[in-house]
Amino acid sequence: MSNSTSTAYSATAQLYANTDFSKLTWLEFQWASFYLWIDNPIIATGLMSFLLHEIVYFGRCIPWIIIDAIPYFRKWKLQPGKIPSKQEQWECTKQVLFSHFTIELPAIWLFHPLTELVGLATWQVPLPSWSTVIPQVAFFFVFEDIFHYFAHQALHWGPLYKHIHKIHHKYSAPFGLAAEYAHPAEVFILGTGTLAGPFLYCAFRGDLHIFAMYVWITLRLFQAVDAHSGYDFPWSLQHILPFWSGAEHHDFHHMAFVNNFSTSFRWCDAIFGTDDKYRQYRAKMDAAKKSGMSMQELAKLEQRMTEEAAREGVEAEKVAESYTYGKTKVQ
Ligand SMILES: [Zn+2]
Ligand SMILES: [Zn+2]
Repeated sequence: MSNSTSTAYSATAQLYANTDFSKLTWLEFQWASFYLWIDNPIIATGLMSFLLHEIVYFGRCIPWIIIDAIPYFRKWKLQPGKIPSKQEQWECTKQVLFSHFTIELPAIWLFHPLTELVGLATWQVPLPSWSTVIPQVAFFFVFEDIFHYFAHQALHWGPLYKHIHKIHHKYSAPFGLAAEYAHPAEVFILGTGTLAGPFLYCAFRGDLHIFAMYVWITLRLFQAVDAHSGYDFPWSLQHILPFWSGAEHHDFHHMAFVNNFSTSFRWCDAIFGTDDKYRQYRAKMDAAKKSGMSMQELAKLEQRMTEEAAREGVEAEKVAESYTYGKTKVQ
């Protein structure tokens, strides 16, 4: 791997003709080596993107599968009575894998031409510094959260709910693997929020490397899997960053069917008032905790309130589903 410009080298090698490999970090060297090894940037970018998604998504699900299997952790389960069975987890995994291979894998080949179109750097080294990547990723987080908030609410509108979003709401007590359990149209609609931020940023600002996008996608997958985990630990991120949504916020959405439409942050739901029921639920629980109830009484109350919210959720779902051409029939 020299910096020779000889025409005997492949087209990919020529891309690196002016690169001084001795100045690269270990990661940058591996990055360039991968592109040189595959020797086709379209395939290299597609393969790397697909593998990143599979490894991060399923890799992040593994700790939650283990936690679900250990009764010790039940005390932090948001809906303690609803532990996913092995069968449910396997069915969900099969469905997610099926859509990854039948929808995502074919679509990913459009990715490289799109990166070329907006001028997103892919094979280029050196990679951007963290001081460049961190503000970009912060912007993608905020952009995605706002996009998701409105798109997710639209998916709760009768016809879209019935035909698309209902699949994701199959699990009223979600678990990590259920994060991407959704209709292909939903994957496309909500995936737009994840990808549009980087593409728009790149189209307007230029100067974006796919490495920054991979950092973003990795964190976004962690966010999505964790938000569906069904557990709220004392050390969960939302207890450190109070504006972070986390499982405690999104689990309520699955349980009660209403409220909490955003992904990463609590801001949108707070600003637009779509967290009123959630706040009432929390306030009741907090008051009960302060009232000096015994742990047993508290657990019973939580169980009762959870069941009540879940019952109301089932009713709210029926209302959404019964929507027909401008009228909402209740029952
Ligand atoms: Zn929803
Ligand atoms: Zn969800």
